[in-house]
Amino acid sequence: MRELVDDLSGIRIAIFDLDGVVYRGQTLIKNIDNIIQELKDLSIKVVYNSNNSTITRQMYVERLYGLNIPCEYSDFYTSASITAMEITKIKINSNIYVIGEIGLREELRAMGHNVIKKPSKSGYNDVDFVVVGLDVHFTYNNLAIAQRCILEGGAQFYATNADVTLPVSDGLMPGAGVMVNAVETCTGQKPITIFGKPEPHGINMILDDLKVPANKAVIFGDRAETDILAGNRAGIITAMVLTGVYSKEMVDELEKKSNSIDINLLPDFTFNTLDEIFK
Ligand SMILES: [Mg+2]
Repeated sequence: MRELVDDLSGIRIAIFDLDGVVYRGQTLIKNIDNIIQELKDLSIKVVYNSNNSTITRQMYVERLYGLNIPCEYSDFYTSASITAMEITKIKINSNIYVIGEIGLREELRAMGHNVIKKPSKSGYNDVDFVVVGLDVHFTYNNLAIAQRCILEGGAQFYATNADVTLPVSDGLMPGAGVMVNAVETCTGQKPITIFGKPEPHGINMILDDLKVPANKAVIFGDRAETDILAGNRAGIITAMVLTGVYSKEMVDELEKKSNSIDINLLPDFTFNTLDEIFK
């Protein structure tokens, strides 16, 4: 059995971002299934924290099984499941207008909320929250309804995440931030809270659920402005892995600018591939 490098030898939880760390598009990143198994063999709990709210946790379980990574429903913390948990703390059994896909709608429903398809003309007042996430079927009409719920009905505006882009196997697509910005523009309001990374809600939830102190957890991420920033804000160990969005040059560039940027953007460690976490 291989051992972890000394810097990581005390960790008890490994939090993996998914896109760019475990897979790219539909393709498993080389050897990551074996690396995850080796961590588990060292009694390290592996969990997954993704900003992608479009699919449910059950769909993530099936996706990872399909890539030869055994996992459980409770191993996943998506921006959709985190949003559903946090919204429930604000109000139970609420009425919500959603811009988003099945992942977000189902996670909210599973927590007892009523997801409204289309409020009636007099129904905008009944909508408690407008929750915005990535929606590839986003339309002008969705935006108009969200605007009315907020401006006429007084609904509170929340977002799953504000990623500007979504990496896919052959490049980039628009991310959830585009929809969030659209709602922001036509209402003049910013989301009250954005629940996904770089906010630390998800990581704090993981530490709470697993009852492990922050200094015993590491996040493996491929983006400074989401994964690394969230990890540093939560006070856990942060490790950049260069298999996704960020290159070595981009990390060097951040380090050069360290006097003028948020210091929390800088990872504690950078690995070319996660094979390097073992001796
Ligand atoms: Mg990623």
